[in-house]
Amino acid sequence: MNAITLPSTRAYSIVDHTYDVVVVGAGGSGLRTTLGISAAGLKTACITKVFPTRSHTVAAQGGIGAALGNMGEDDWRWHMYDTVKGSDWLGDQDAIEYMCREAIPAVYELEHYGVPFSRTDDGRIYQRPFGGHMKDYGKTPAMRACAAADRTGHAILHTLYQQSLKHDVEFFVEYFALDLIMDEGACRGVMAWCLDDGSIHRFRAQTVVLATGGYGRAYQSCTSAHTCTGDGGGMVLRAGLPVQDMEFVQFHPTGIFPAGCLITEGARGEGGYLTNSEGERFMERYAPTAKDLASRDVVSRSMTMEINAGRGCGPNKDHILLHLEHLGADLLHERLPGISETAKVFAGVEVTKEPIPVLPTVHYNMGGVPTNYRTEVLRPTRDDPDAVVPGLMAVGEAACVSVHGANRLGTNSLLDLVVFGRAAAHRCAETLKPGASQAPLPARAGEASLERFDRTRHAKGGTSVAALRAEMQKTMQAHAAVFRTSKSLTEGVAKMRRVWDGLSDMSVADRSLIWNSDLVEALELHNLMGNAMTTIVSAEARPESRGAHAHDDYPDRDDANWMKHTVATCDDHGEVSLAYRPVRMQTLTNEVSVFPPKKRVY
Ligand SMILES: Cc1cc2nc3c(=O)[nH]c(=O)nc-3n(C[C@H](O)[C@H](O)[C@H](O)COP(=O)(O)OP(=O)(O)OC[C@H]3O[C@@H](n4cnc5c(N)ncnc54)[C@H](O)[C@@H]3O)c2cc1C
Repeated sequence: MNAITLPSTRAYSIVDHTYDVVVVGAGGSGLRTTLGISAAGLKTACITKVFPTRSHTVAAQGGIGAALGNMGEDDWRWHMYDTVKGSDWLGDQDAIEYMCREAIPAVYELEHYGVPFSRTDDGRIYQRPFGGHMKDYGKTPAMRACAAADRTGHAILHTLYQQSLKHDVEFFVEYFALDLIMDEGACRGVMAWCLDDGSIHRFRAQTVVLATGGYGRAYQSCTSAHTCTGDGGGMVLRAGLPVQDMEFVQFHPTGIFPAGCLITEGARGEGGYLTNSEGERFMERYAPTAKDLASRDVVSRSMTMEINAGRGCGPNKDHILLHLEHLGADLLHERLPGISETAKVFAGVEVTKEPIPVLPTVHYNMGGVPTNYRTEVLRPTRDDPDAVVPGLMAVGEAACVSVHGANRLGTNSLLDLVVFGRAAAHRCAETLKPGASQAPLPARAGEASLERFDRTRHAKGGTSVAALRAEMQKTMQAHAAVFRTSKSLTEGVAKMRRVWDGLSDMSVADRSLIWNSDLVEALELHNLMGNAMTTIVSAEARPESRGAHAHDDYPDRDDANWMKHTVATCDDHGEVSLAYRPVRMQTLTNEVSVFPPKKRVY
């Protein structure tokens, strides 16, 4: 066993490992990647801070999008058109084409792995309508969301985990990945801390795949799990690499008021609708064609405008009502059993009898680690906007491939996980040789990471991790919300700088290495802060409205100047530098060409 002695004189023993590929994360994207890579004969490790089936993917409800056409005509080209339009023209069209085309084999593959999808009367996969998914290039709603009742993520995650156990994968469960090991611009491995016995591990690999999920917890009210702390983004930023399009944070229209738990859009897909305090179905005014199934940014903004106009419901006029009671107990029981239970527990509402109070709540991060459609991580330069980082890939919500652009359509994330998890596996199978010899890691590899770890573990300041985190979450919720203004963003950036400075006064009470949840939360806060800071600074710098970034002072989309990806880096002091990279308008095959119209029509 090796050891590293730090300048603090504290020494840590290191357990060294060598694999062909190390996947960090065991949600839908991590497991699909792990499964494919190990099936290709590459020696694979999967590191995860929670037990695989506890990853946030387990909570996904409504469905996974694929133009199977089981319940009416459908075409992957229509799916592609909707996704480009939904992205408000910020999605990369080669990646979107790849995803919508590959959706069909990827979902059939899931079926063959054993995902227990709901069925039509003739035994095919059941499909329901979802916001923004249309037929005939935007004409009428399509039935495209393949669903396992309202527990689709649960069904997919458990199946993928069971399948991966068939292969020779080594799972490192309840290991917390700390930092990437970089060597002359290439990624060579990752450092990790075993939460259970306190040991420190140094993984060397030909390729590391980040599949660490989103960073919803940078906000006060979100639908995501407490584990969604953007650790992948944090690691990438500390390695001096950029994140992309962080200003685009999706608010889901129907978080339960005030708890924040999700009521799936599938509820509106099955015929649910929203009303204001006057009992009006107001979405008919804002989106005459798609109505309650307009894309999420449109519905969230419309709800906020109703509330701002004094037409919110309840004594404080601060929420909107979602009606499902007209759907009948049988349908609710068969198609939406999970959310019926959630509404009862978190709002005390019996959905067969009364409407659910709802409010837009942070749900998804369109931004993340930039990649191409082969999932290779990018480090754009002035000469080459598509330059890749050798040895590093990213998939799932942690990545920004970018298929969701400025706004993700419902069901396209579960799809993104499996399509790009599969693409990462294909790419590794194509480019790596099982057991190929790897150069030794640089002397003292991982030392900088351990120093940060040790400093955090012994932090003796005056502010608790919880207090700092609450300050960050409140600032993000107030200043980088559904609607933004130049004033609120500028104030938000200044407040976030103060929160960042507060990190130097952080206190960690528990010094042990075993099950030290105080230290875990401190490390997660570091990661959240990098994500939050790049989000708000990128938002402040974008003077237009596009997708989820609705800027009150600049209500129009500005394609001439701003149809470009924001690329942000963040140093140890919280200083963010911004650059931009063109959107990839070229498709893979030119079968569909989708260009932005002059005026937005919904
Ligand atoms: C309530 C809810 C409902 C949703 N419903 C839908 C839906 O119906 N359809 C749809 O398409 N999308 C839906 N989404 C979005 C979608 O579920 C998520 O975007 C997706 O599941 C994210 O998957 P992932 O694999 O990227 O990450 P996750 O499932 O979040 O997994 C992250 C993994 O990374 C690991 N990890 C993270 N940090 C570390 C670290 N430092 N060290 C070690 N391991 C680490 C975790 O242990 C975990 O295994 C929903 C999201 C939510 C919150």
